[in-house]
Amino acid sequence: MTSYVIPPPPVAAIPVSGGGMFPVRRVFCVGRNYAEHAREMGSDPNREPPFFFMKPADALLTGDADMPYPVASKDVHHEMEMVVALCEGGADIAEADALRHVWGYAAGLDMTRRDLQNAAKKEGKPWDMGKGFDASAPIGLLHPAAKIGHPAEGPIELKINGQVRQTSDLSKMIWNVPEMISYLSRLVRLAPGDLIFSGTPENVAAVQKGDLLEGVVAGVGTVRTRIV
Ligand code: MN
Repeated sequence: MTSYVIPPPPVAAIPVSGGGMFPVRRVFCVGRNYAEHAREMGSDPNREPPFFFMKPADALLTGDADMPYPVASKDVHHEMEMVVALCEGGADIAEADALRHVWGYAAGLDMTRRDLQNAAKKEGKPWDMGKGFDASAPIGLLHPAAKIGHPAEGPIELKINGQVRQTSDLSKMIWNVPEMISYLSRLVRLAPGDLIFSGTPENVAAVQKGDLLEGVVAGVGTVRTRIV
C-alpha cells in the first residue's frame, strides 16, 4: 500500500442529476468558440484551429454555492458555457466516434479575471492566473447523455439579477462537440473524468458582489451562483 507523506487531496467531483457524483480528472476549456464573442474580444472569428486552456479540477464550484469575488482582480467576467463530461479517454479520437466518449452535459460558468487575462495577452504571457483561480468554475448538475442525448442546438442563456445578459444558440459554436473532442485528443490523451467547457457566446461583462447569476442550456441544465 502506498504511504503518502501528506494526506492525498480529495477527489474533485460534480453531482449528477438523479444521484451520485461524477469524479473530475481535468478541466479543459475551449477559447473563442462563438464568432460574436471572438469579435467582441477583438479577434478574427474565422475558423482558425480551436485552442484550449485549463482550470484546476478543484476550481469547480458545485451545489449553487456562492462564489467569493476573487482576489487580485477588479474586472471579473462571466462566460456562460455548456460543459461536456467524458467517460472514456483516448488519443486520436475520430469525430465520428467522439460522442461515444461523452457521459453527460452540464451548464457551467468560465469565470475570468479579465484584467489579468488582458495583461497576460498583451505581454504574451500565459492566461492561467486569469482563468484558473479558486472557485472560477461554477457548474450545475451533470445530466447523463443516456437521458438527454447529445445537444447540438438550442438556446444558451445567462441572466444576471433576473435580466438576460448572454443569449445565443449551441448551433453557433464554431467547433462542435465531436470536433473539439477529436481536436483535443490529438493534443493530449483524454481520460475518463475530463471535462470540456465548450466556449461562451457574446456579451461577456463584469460581475459585482451581490449579483445573482442564473444560466440555462436548454435541454441540458442550469447553473446558479451568487457573487459574495
Ligand atoms: Mn470561456
